Amino acid sequence: MASKVYFIKASVKEGEAVISKKSVELFKAGKFAKCFEKNDFTAVKVHVGEGGNTTYIKAGCIKGLVEELIRLKTKPFLTDTSTLYTGRRHNAIDHYVLAAEHGFSVDTLGIPFIAPDGLFGTAETAVEINSELNKEVFIAYDIVRCQSILSVSHCTGHLATCLAATLKTLGMGCSSRKGKMRQHAAMKPSVKDNCTRCGQCEKYCPEGAITLDDIKAHIDQDKCIGCAECVAVCRFDAVKYDFGTESEILQRQVAEHALGAVAGKEGRAVFFNYAISVTEDCDCFGTPDMRNIVKDIGILASTDAVAVDSAALNMIEQTGDKKLDELIEKKGLDARRQLGHAERIGLGTRKYELVEI
Ligand code: SF4
Ligand code: SF4
Repeated sequence: MASKVYFIKASVKEGEAVISKKSVELFKAGKFAKCFEKNDFTAVKVHVGEGGNTTYIKAGCIKGLVEELIRLKTKPFLTDTSTLYTGRRHNAIDHYVLAAEHGFSVDTLGIPFIAPDGLFGTAETAVEINSELNKEVFIAYDIVRCQSILSVSHCTGHLATCLAATLKTLGMGCSSRKGKMRQHAAMKPSVKDNCTRCGQCEKYCPEGAITLDDIKAHIDQDKCIGCAECVAVCRFDAVKYDFGTESEILQRQVAEHALGAVAGKEGRAVFFNYAISVTEDCDCFGTPDMRNIVKDIGILASTDAVAVDSAALNMIEQTGDKKLDELIEKKGLDARRQLGHAERIGLGTRKYELVEI
């Protein structure tokens, strides 16, 4: 059976207040209030945007959604986990400060930002899923403990999973450090001969796995956790990994961790995808004014995480008149791997009925 995906056209040019209002219209059209109960601890899963990033979904865009949750008398909190890579979201303290600078705070939205995986990204619960790659997955402790989730995702391209939207938000964004490491474990990059020895990868590698000799950088495969930070920071395209097979395993891992993130919350989770400022890379990049791959599309929402991502992907490709791997110039990546696996393991369905409001 097809899942309903609610859609409203929107553009960044309309401003945060209008986008917020349109988000509430979707919330009402989908009758999503039924997913939240009085006194629920409700995780509002956001991405506050890495320091320097300017294209993330701004706090003002979700103000109306937060007000709806407050009106329903839940106890909503803004939340996101620590990253593996070095940056301003690497631990709860730095993340909290960045969140406040970007407007994700009591001052602007009336609710606090709380790291669900503790100060160091290690507070977790092993969630049994008995799936194909994992019997259990490691999810941030407070994501598991809270009663309901409102997930806010920015649809973008991604250098390893092709699409970053709801599945990525749930799978990677709700996992503890251990959960993230397991998802990345398949990706072990190596350094090509065109390395300039600039040292950026060595500086940013969170595990000290990179050393420079007189000729180029080298990666210690035993120390490497596959976080792909070196791929992201190398400006010379000198770090390579096999996008084909390794991306497929990563995407399947993301889908299984997404399953763990919402386990036990059937009918208690709502997923918003913002297909505006659809950039070639995700909000983890501290790059200002990243290239948009298509013009703004709008906002999608559903109680089915697979359906809402399927709809977003199809709309991005229709708008750009190309497959997503071509739009982000990473030919060979296939975002449908994560969707197909998520459907197979029972997270949702790729069949959807689009309800435009
Ligand atoms: S070498 Fe491995 S651990 Fe270090 S940044 Fe690259 S992928 Fe991450
Ligand atoms: S960032 Fe790229 S060019 Fe610089 S040392 Fe690392 S692999 Fe070489």
